[in-house]
Amino acid sequence: MTVRINADRLWTSLMAMAEIGATPRGGCNRQALTDEDKAGRDVFVAWGRAAGCEVSIDEVGNVFLRYAGRHAGADPVLIGSHLDTQATGGRFDGVYGVLAGLEVVRTVAESGIAVNRAIEIASWTNEEGCRFAPAMLGSGVVAGTYTREFAYARTDKEGRRFDAELERIGYRGTLPARARRYRAMFEAHIEQGPILEQTQTTIGVVTGIQGAYWFDVTLRGVSCHAGPTPMAARRDPWRAACPLIEGVFALATAHAPWGRATIGDLKVSPGSRNTVPERLVISVDLRHPDRDVLEGMVAAFRDLAKQQSAQHGIELGIEQIWHMPPTAFDPELVTLIDRAAAELGFSHMEIVSGAGHDSLHTAQFAPTAMIFVPCTGGLSHNEAEDASAADLAAGADVLLRAVLAVANEVD
Ligand SMILES: [Zn+2]
Repeated sequence: MTVRINADRLWTSLMAMAEIGATPRGGCNRQALTDEDKAGRDVFVAWGRAAGCEVSIDEVGNVFLRYAGRHAGADPVLIGSHLDTQATGGRFDGVYGVLAGLEVVRTVAESGIAVNRAIEIASWTNEEGCRFAPAMLGSGVVAGTYTREFAYARTDKEGRRFDAELERIGYRGTLPARARRYRAMFEAHIEQGPILEQTQTTIGVVTGIQGAYWFDVTLRGVSCHAGPTPMAARRDPWRAACPLIEGVFALATAHAPWGRATIGDLKVSPGSRNTVPERLVISVDLRHPDRDVLEGMVAAFRDLAKQQSAQHGIELGIEQIWHMPPTAFDPELVTLIDRAAAELGFSHMEIVSGAGHDSLHTAQFAPTAMIFVPCTGGLSHNEAEDASAADLAAGADVLLRAVLAVANEVD
């Protein structure tokens, strides 16, 4: 007999959590370390205790519910995501992964299935990064990407510190915020993109997370009068910028379907309609899930920028603003999720995450994999974010099956 999660209970829990910080337009505003975040955490902790879990809180406010296994010494299975939202966020981003984990534990507890490994559910602090930058901070501290002190010193727009706000809501715990041993870490999440919906696929078997590079490209020429100056006598930075921008898009197209190129910002100086500009500053965002391909895209972009600026007599500066290396998930766990989806009869496909997730950090210290379910119109970070109860239940069923497979591989 195949054990299934309780779809109604999962949906009811999601909707109850969505009441905390509910916005008039049907979304959610439960930003990290606010009163709403505290209220959400309190409910989650109460639900966990009722399901038979022990609760522990670490120094940066990450909450762990532990459902004991028969072998106390065996490395546990971790399920995690985040309960915080954007200011105009939706009801499912992050929350689904946490409550799907809770639903797995509730199902295990009520059905009396023995688990050999303990199952832990993590709610990571400040995944969204909208109140305290950077994003994925709580899991980042545990992974060792950031120090605890770095997290404590983050401030919001009003100048309130992370540590003071953590203390204020009563979630500054004593558990050291560092990596422990886990057999596996799973994160279920809405896709936040349109691919599953467009292909009418229920389960996304996530193989990894895209890597990204951010650059500012500065092209400096000579500003002059738009009327009297003959075209051949100009050093107009646009002459290098236009082929460069086209070339950057062509790089993404050449590495379809996963290559991405975005020119999200542009500054023109002095910014006068009858003056050839002296300077352009162009933001370039390049992404790909494969490290070698991404590095190749970056090298090609740099070459093109050099070549075009030299050809048009333009001074070139390229500043790297940020880099997120690609994350490849654990092949064994990816296969396990694929098999669970197949055995349960759900349509499924391999997919790459375009957004960052806590799993990016957990992959640094534990074998990690993710499960995606479709969201309506691919919409996320939006109050209208939506997902079907059936798809959410399907994802949680795949999660349950994958978790049980690793939890009971020891006897
Ligand atoms: Zn999320």
